[in-house]
Amino acid sequence: MSRSAGIHHITAIAGEPKRHVRFYRDILGLRLVKRTVNFDDPSTWHLYYGDENGSPGTALTFFVWEELPSGRHGSGEPQEIAFAVPAPALEFWRKQLSDHGISHKDAPARFGEQVIAFADADGHKLELVGSDAAARIPGWSNGDIPAEHAIRGFHGITLEVSNPATTARVLTEIFGFEPVGINGDRHRFVSKGAEIGTIVDLRVTPGAVRASQGTGTVHHVAFRASGDEQEMELRKRVIELGLRPTEQVSRHYFRSVYFREPNGILFEIATDDPGFAVDEPKEKLGDRIMLPPWYEQHRQQIVAALPALE
Ligand code: ZN
Repeated sequence: MSRSAGIHHITAIAGEPKRHVRFYRDILGLRLVKRTVNFDDPSTWHLYYGDENGSPGTALTFFVWEELPSGRHGSGEPQEIAFAVPAPALEFWRKQLSDHGISHKDAPARFGEQVIAFADADGHKLELVGSDAAARIPGWSNGDIPAEHAIRGFHGITLEVSNPATTARVLTEIFGFEPVGINGDRHRFVSKGAEIGTIVDLRVTPGAVRASQGTGTVHHVAFRASGDEQEMELRKRVIELGLRPTEQVSRHYFRSVYFREPNGILFEIATDDPGFAVDEPKEKLGDRIMLPPWYEQHRQQIVAALPALE
């Protein structure tokens, strides 16, 4: 049985765009690798951040839906988005967050790793985790944050669920994750075959209310398929587990299949290819507003209607 190499991307919902870009690009130092529109609603932004290439395992994407009310954290929700940095970089990040007036705290060590917890202005729960794997990956500098301290990509994500056994089956039987133990209220699952974006923690908080979607919440989590062949294999396993996947759809930068896992979280299977350099050169990623071919003829009106990012 082939395994998914782990998290491909995480897509979340943001509010005010200028503040948002400043936070993720300038303060956290992620590369804004793609400025495009929501393919289902081209009057709104879809912004992609990541490492230098927006590699699978590093891509954090946002639907910018200013009009949407704030969401509510709760059960049935991907909650903390954890970034991996080399452990010695944590000191830099404590200062960086303090210097920008972002409140943060050291969470209890988790599976032997140090964790800094903080949030963005929309209420997304974020973490920086000191990891040995991150230290083995070269960093990318935005010109401001030294490469050695840079965020390397996802450490992982915590899913808040009411019935962890059912989500655990999806992780292990569809994606090939392995359970590695319990720490406090977390059940940890790890994928093999990648250095980054390999961890999914399941957490049960007794009495947690059901989450509601809005700004400050995660929309979906995508898992990697090496290409179409593996995507179809994973899709078949989704059906075998009694769940209902969509047909494959093109997202221009990858091809996707979506399904809702038993606790109600939207999962996606996304191909590693072709990636973000398919429509603009690697050194210019994110410089220009990119539209899929079917919107290109309406570029002027679409661009004019988008809210300013800077
Ligand atoms: Zn997605």
